[in-house]
Amino acid sequence: MVDTQLIPRGIKQKEVLDAMRTIPRHLFVEEGLWAQAYSDYPLPIGHGQTISQPFMVAFMTEAMELTGTEKVLEIGVGSGYQAAIVSLLASRVFTIERKPALAAKARKVLDGLHLSNVQIRIGDGTMGWPEEAPFDAVIVTAAAPEVPKAYIDQLKDGGRLVIPVGGEFLQELVRIRRKGGTTVTEDLGGCKFVKLVGRHGWEEGA
Ligand code: SAH
Repeated sequence: MVDTQLIPRGIKQKEVLDAMRTIPRHLFVEEGLWAQAYSDYPLPIGHGQTISQPFMVAFMTEAMELTGTEKVLEIGVGSGYQAAIVSLLASRVFTIERKPALAAKARKVLDGLHLSNVQIRIGDGTMGWPEEAPFDAVIVTAAAPEVPKAYIDQLKDGGRLVIPVGGEFLQELVRIRRKGGTTVTEDLGGCKFVKLVGRHGWEEGA
């Protein structure tokens, strides 16, 4: 996966490549999908949700520019795979999931891998996690129609928010860097994510 998908497509950060080699991706999907666990596409994880394509996980992780000391907020724990990767590149990971069954499954897999620096909260993540703010980086693994303001407010000065933004079927992945009271936005390319559903995201069932 690393040699045939990630390196050829430009993932360069050694720590990201090491993390993708270290974390066993198959543990985050059902046993019936193990043969496909290292393939170049997203896979279903139940409840209408997906574990992202390996390249997208690596790309978003690299985009956060982590050095190992950071406090990171993730929205959408899903299978827990992205959180597992980030946990190897940051000091602490706080992640929010609105589907309790997915959160419970992810917790089990993360515990099985002894990734004790990941904290999971169940609920609507569109308000962020104010009690733990500010964060060095925020990664949103579901797509929002617009950037929820809380994510910017909860970034440290110099912090990075990586989030897919756009319509229901296609979005742009953007990196928003907070610089004092202003922000700088970079377009990282097209992408396709499941919906961020919540108060500052899409409406339930919309
Ligand atoms: N990072 C995940 C990808 C999961 S897909 C992984 O590595 O597997 C996106 C996840 O976001 C889904 O589990 C979905 O239930 C969750 N989600 C959608 N809207 C949310 C919200 N407002 N708050 C928290 N989680 C949300």
